[in-house]
Amino acid sequence: MPRQRIPKVLMALAGLAAAATATTQASAEEVNVYSYRQPELVEPLFAKFTEASGIAVNVVFLKTGMIERLQSEGSRSPADVVLTVDISRLNAIVEAGVTQSVQSDALEAAVPANLRDPDGHWFGLTARARIVYASKDRVADGDVTTYEDLASEAWAGRLCTRSGTHPYNLALISALTLHHDEEFASGWLEGLKSNLARKPQGNDRAQVKAIHAGECDISLGNTYYMGLMVRNDEQKAWADSVRIVFPTFEGGGTHVNLSGVAMTKSAPNKANALALMEFLASAEGQEIYAEVNHEYPITPGVPTSDLVDSWGTFDFDSLDLIDIAKARPGSLRLVETVDFDG
Ligand code: FE
Repeated sequence: MPRQRIPKVLMALAGLAAAATATTQASAEEVNVYSYRQPELVEPLFAKFTEASGIAVNVVFLKTGMIERLQSEGSRSPADVVLTVDISRLNAIVEAGVTQSVQSDALEAAVPANLRDPDGHWFGLTARARIVYASKDRVADGDVTTYEDLASEAWAGRLCTRSGTHPYNLALISALTLHHDEEFASGWLEGLKSNLARKPQGNDRAQVKAIHAGECDISLGNTYYMGLMVRNDEQKAWADSVRIVFPTFEGGGTHVNLSGVAMTKSAPNKANALALMEFLASAEGQEIYAEVNHEYPITPGVPTSDLVDSWGTFDFDSLDLIDIAKARPGSLRLVETVDFDG
């Protein structure tokens, strides 16, 4: 028994030390972030912010469960700011009631009105297009045209994609439904499924790897993954085997989605949270996003990176992103009814 008591004492001492550290941190300027975005994508931004403001950024990186965590922590939550990708995830966080309205002239000037919540509960920070990666060897210029055409027989056995239930694909299906109707989207999903070279699996980059390996000729993916693959020793060959093609909806543009930010309802460091949000939307923050993340800045006048420029230009589809978020449950039902992943 005594041998078990010693660790308990040590644990208690360690607890005291941790409490002392927490007290020290609380008295310094800080802001606490819960992030669905990956460390390599946001750490360069936070480092710059801290350098400029003296405010330390503490980040908890989450893969799932952000809403549940904020709800269970309630008013005691240390989180000030949440960062996420995908409009439906942003919307879900707001609808869960764990955010607060932010009024900021700087944010309103930086973020176009259609890329933020009119009530200030969320702000878009970057845009990405969901496009087609096409084999340079096996797909000719002009073969890929519209999203609708991806369901045509010309692509039988040639398409790879991640799960139909992933938020990126659900948003695309929602957009397609809004351009047409549910019946059309259902038929489209059936066609897409029959064109699959293999069951949906892996992430967006895994599909490009499969094109490189000759398993499929085209895949669905987000634009910035091209940048991440080009800069990765192992993945560069995958990237070199494909080119980006920007499909459009019939009578529309290319499907885009957002990454975004919100302030939590219980933010203990409200002023610092606002300073961080304003930095992320500022020209300086947007340039880092453009260079490091290979995304499209949303702040007017901030250029895309040279690499992103090299992929070509496209017209953003004009659907309202919040409508896409609201169509998510219907899209999930469609994917399950069609048994897209099965
Ligand atoms: Fe992603």
